[in-house]
Amino acid sequence: MIKFLDLKEINDSFEPQLLNSVRRVLDSGWYLLGEEVKAFEKEYAQFIGVKHCIGVANGLDALRLIFKAYLELGKLQEGDEIIIPANTYIASVLAITDNRLVPVLVEPDINTYNIDPFKVEEKISTRTKGIMIVHLYGQNAMHPEILRLVKKYNLKLIEDNAQAQGCFYGDKRTGSLRDIAGHSFYPGKNLGALGDAGAVTTDDDELADVVRTVANYGSKIKYQNLYKGLNSRLDEIQAAILRVKLPRLDTDNQRRREIVQYYMSNITNQGIILPAEVNIQPATGNLQHVWHLFVIRTTDRNKLQQYLNEAGIQTMIHYPIPPHKQMAYKEWNGQSFPITEQIHREVLSLPLSPMMNIEDMSCIVDRINKAL
Ligand SMILES: *Cc1c(COP(=O)(O)O)cnc(C)c1O
Repeated sequence: MIKFLDLKEINDSFEPQLLNSVRRVLDSGWYLLGEEVKAFEKEYAQFIGVKHCIGVANGLDALRLIFKAYLELGKLQEGDEIIIPANTYIASVLAITDNRLVPVLVEPDINTYNIDPFKVEEKISTRTKGIMIVHLYGQNAMHPEILRLVKKYNLKLIEDNAQAQGCFYGDKRTGSLRDIAGHSFYPGKNLGALGDAGAVTTDDDELADVVRTVANYGSKIKYQNLYKGLNSRLDEIQAAILRVKLPRLDTDNQRRREIVQYYMSNITNQGIILPAEVNIQPATGNLQHVWHLFVIRTTDRNKLQQYLNEAGIQTMIHYPIPPHKQMAYKEWNGQSFPITEQIHREVLSLPLSPMMNIEDMSCIVDRINKAL
């Protein structure tokens, strides 16, 4: 059986450092808002290339806190519109509606699966205050056209960097491209904790301060509450674990690129559409993708998944139902986003882990080439 993603295998490869880091926290007797979190925030801010990193409880909270902070600062008002890709994980949408802001969905580019930059302007209204781009599957979604619109209409640009830790756009990492970004360290992400964890990154001092305060009950001084806050803190154990794993992230992402290169050169089945790696200026070649997922498309998706499953190859679908077709958003169920819907019908994610070996890779390619 070839697993879709063997997290135990990945985390075992960081031993004994992981156990040592947990030991260190136990010995310190300090569990929240301590030295490990402070050190991780500094190291991750440096890695991303920003002034501020705020560790939070998970990726959804990171995004929710960004909008909450803008609302507290009076820089957004309830009812303001935020442009987002129709093709994304539900968390991107929830972060907006949870704050009584209005998501305006934009179709993806069928080749990149990311928001189509040339379909954004037609969705901009007088109520539009921001664009949230999602670097989906690990591929940079920033584009000169997005930047042009952000400047022309004076919009905030928020990045959902949950799937793209380490990715570049030009000489900057995603997560540092403009105003503020949310990150997830869910165990299966390229940089994964051993539980839930997330972060917000920004160069904006005021915004960083409000995010940090809102995440801690809206309080800077204990028992004095400036805002109606949340309890959304990164804990010391997860921070200590992330500090062990962060230094290997670029190497692991490079290994993902090599595996993808192998898939790309060796999958020859005509019934399968391989993912496109689009180089957007300013270019840094293949560094614009960190391959969180390797997503192929085929009209016979369900049949292919079943065939691979019978061959002992585990695959996943990211994602089977788009946000606008979810029960949670039944008011949008009648809307039509044909490209998004096509993607959800046709995509299949193949196994991809920095720990994969050539035997697994060649077995997967062999089965896929014989399929359908
Ligand atoms: C994983 C993910 C999130 C949410 O992260 P959690 O840590 O699971 O809350 C947000 N956006 C995208 C695109 C994601 O893939």
